[in-house]
Formats: sequence, structure tokens, C-alpha cells
Amino acid sequence: MGKVLIIGAGGVASVAMHKCCQNWEVFDEVCIASRTKSKCDALKEKLDGGKTKITTAQVDADSVEELVALINKEKPDVVLNLALPYQDLTIMDACLETKTHYVDTANYEPLDTAKFEYKWQWEYREKFEKAGITALLGSGFDPGVTGVFSAYALKHEFDEINYIDILDCNAGDHGYPFATNFNPEINIREVSAKGSYWENGKWVETEPMEIKRVYNFPEIGEKDMYLLHHEELESLGINIPGIKRIRFFMTFGQSYLTHLKCLENVGMTSIEPIDYEGKQIVPLQFLKAVLPDPASLGPRTVGKTNIGCIFQGKKDGKDKTYYLYNVCDHQECYKEVGSQAISYTTGVPAMIGAMMIMNGTWNKPGVYNIEEFDPDPFMDALNKFGLPWKESYTPDLVE
Ligand code: NDP
Repeated sequence: MGKVLIIGAGGVASVAMHKCCQNWEVFDEVCIASRTKSKCDALKEKLDGGKTKITTAQVDADSVEELVALINKEKPDVVLNLALPYQDLTIMDACLETKTHYVDTANYEPLDTAKFEYKWQWEYREKFEKAGITALLGSGFDPGVTGVFSAYALKHEFDEINYIDILDCNAGDHGYPFATNFNPEINIREVSAKGSYWENGKWVETEPMEIKRVYNFPEIGEKDMYLLHHEELESLGINIPGIKRIRFFMTFGQSYLTHLKCLENVGMTSIEPIDYEGKQIVPLQFLKAVLPDPASLGPRTVGKTNIGCIFQGKKDGKDKTYYLYNVCDHQECYKEVGSQAISYTTGVPAMIGAMMIMNGTWNKPGVYNIEEFDPDPFMDALNKFGLPWKESYTPDLVE
């Protein structure tokens, strides 16, 4: 039993709040704090009346001082960072100063460079260890569940994993010609960057969307998918012994790609500030303001997601293939918590990660990626809290 402080009140935070309240035996208190307090208050109003006590607060998570004051006032057992990747380091600093555990779902990215890497957060390892607190990095779906799947496959199915292909398919249709399923700024920065994969201990870089494959996803069917750089490749490349190659593929529809290309060509996806009528504006941030709010997609999105990992390796001297995946239905998610499946598949593991740290199931001072913990209790919790996983020993392979 304990208290979590959730920072951020967007799509993912909303699902995590719902899930903490469903899991009231563990979370008897939740404080949700964000830049716009009215969003926290709206969530409280929706969820109040259950067994979990809910409080709200306003905080600028770019300010360590404000965060420290908030943590000292609320005294949570764990801080769950569901703001944006830009706030990771300030929130980690505040956790250090107040000796509070930390959990997030996305690795740090400087606001002015579209380049996410773990190096900044890994530099906190010694400080967290010395303070006797844990930072759990990347407790969403990808990264998050993909790391848990990898640790589970290694523990139960393989002596050695040599190849991992992470496949992220969103076959949801929201009916708009162009919209992003989570924060547009973060999403577009991710997909317009160069692709890369990890092979034989080195990064191999590709042009954006250069590598395309078609995959027949269970319960969905054939979809085009493209190789992207993704953050868990960096930690899995180190934490899964024997690995020779890891790739990440995400599906995109033709309409999405055509719009993106056009927006790129006219400069709307740039993160370089420009002068507009005497004011400095960042084109990508302006674009975010005119696109549909991802939170508004929930009621109109139909279809399913399928996210999982195909593993190839050795067991008892023989070659072996194993596929672990989850299928999630956008409308089912909306019925349950009022959000589409992208927020759902991130918010559920965020709550589970906070639970693992808060109740001491995962107890290891320092800074860790999710695959560095025992996957079994997390895998059980996925089945219990709405993201049941499926397995196959004969999946189609990605060429
Ligand atoms: P949203 O944009 O919907 O929500 C972000 C929230 O953070 C908003 O409430 C925003 O406040 C708040 N916020 C932003 N800056 C600050 C600040 N300086 N101080 C306080 N609050 C702030 O994003 P999502 O919910 O879609 O995503 C949340 C996180 O989850 C992101 O880091 C994203 O990268 C990650 N993610 C991870 C995935 C995974 O599988 N691992 C998948 C999808 C997302 P305001 O309302 O005022 O704008």
C-alpha cells in the first residue's frame, strides 16, 4: 500500500490514473500534478469516489525547485513521470534530492536536438545507488513491455537470444487524413529521424523510412511496416547477452506517410525556431497546435494494435523461434478508460512499473532498464490489468 505522484496529465497519465484506481489495494493514494492543473482536476472529478484517495497539484516539471517542494509536500513512495521526455532529468534530480523512487516511459531527449539516448539518464546510476533509490527507465509498451518480453524469453525459452525483431502495428483508424496517436511533437520527431538498427555490436544507420517490409500480423492481417530507430534497441543491445541483431519496425498507412512527407517538404516538422511576425516559433510546435489532440481520437478510433517481439536463438543446442505479442482493441480501451489503445498500452505498464517499485517486488537501488528485473511478476500483472500476452512458436519471420 502506498502513494504515487503522477507528473503529467495527458493521454498516458489518464490511463495510468484509471489503472491505479482499479488497483486500489496497492495504490491507496494518487496525487496527479501537471502544468495545467485543470486537466488534473478533470481526472479527479471523473475518478473520485473509489477507494483510492486522489489529490491534484500544479507543477512546472522543468523546475527542480518546484518539483522538490511538491514531493516534500506530498511525500509519495514513487514518482511516475508521464510528462514529456524533456522533463526526465529535472524529475530525476528532484527524486534524488528527496530520496524518492522514479519511473518513466520514455528516455531523455533535449528540447533542441531530436536525439534520444540513455546516456544522460545512465549517468545517474551511481547517485541513485548511493541514495538507496531506484529509477526504472522505460515502463511503457515500447520501451517497456518489449524489454519485459525479452527478459521473459531469455529466462524461460532460450539459452541464448541472437535476433530480436520488435514489431509495432497500429491498425486503428481514426477517420482523419492525418493525426498522431500520441503527442504529435514527440511522434513526428521520432518518425522523421534517421532509422537505425543494432548489429554485431554496432549501429547501422538508414535514411528515414528506407527499409520497408510487409508483415502478416496475427488478428490484424498484412500491413506495411518501416524500420525506425527506437530507444529500447540501445539497452537491449547491452542487456541481452548473445544478441547479434535487434530491429524495430512500426506500421504506417500511406495517407500518414504522404502527409508527413508534404509537411517535411514545406518545413513544418522543423524544430529550428523561426521568426514569425516578430515572435520566435518552432514550426513543429505550431503544427502540434493545429493537429487533432490525441486525447480526442479515443471515441473515433476503431481497430486493433498488435505489438510484440520475435526472438530467434538457441535452446539446448537447437535453433528456436518464439513470438510474444499483445493485441489490444481501441474501442474496448475506450469503453474501459475513455482512451484509445496507444495511451492504454503505455498507461497500463506505467502503472505496473510503479507498482513493482512501490511494493518492493523490484528492489534494486540504482538506475535500471526494465529488462534488468525479473520479468515474471510483470508478465502476471499484464494479464491481470488488461494487456494479456500471446505466444507462438511458429511465427512468420521478417526478412
Ligand atoms: P501528452 O502530450 O498527452 O501529455 C503530456 C503531459 O505532460 C501534458 O499533460 C502536459 O501538460 C504535461 N507537461 C508537459 N510539459 C510539462 C512541464 N514542463 N511541467 C508539467 N507538466 C508538463 O503526452 P502522452 O500522454 O501521449 O505521453 C506521455 C509520455 O509517454 C511521453 O513522454 C511519451 O513519449 C511517452 N510515451 C511512451 C510510450 C511507450 O510505449 N513507452 C508510448 C507513448 C508515449 P499540458 O497539458 O499543460 O500540455
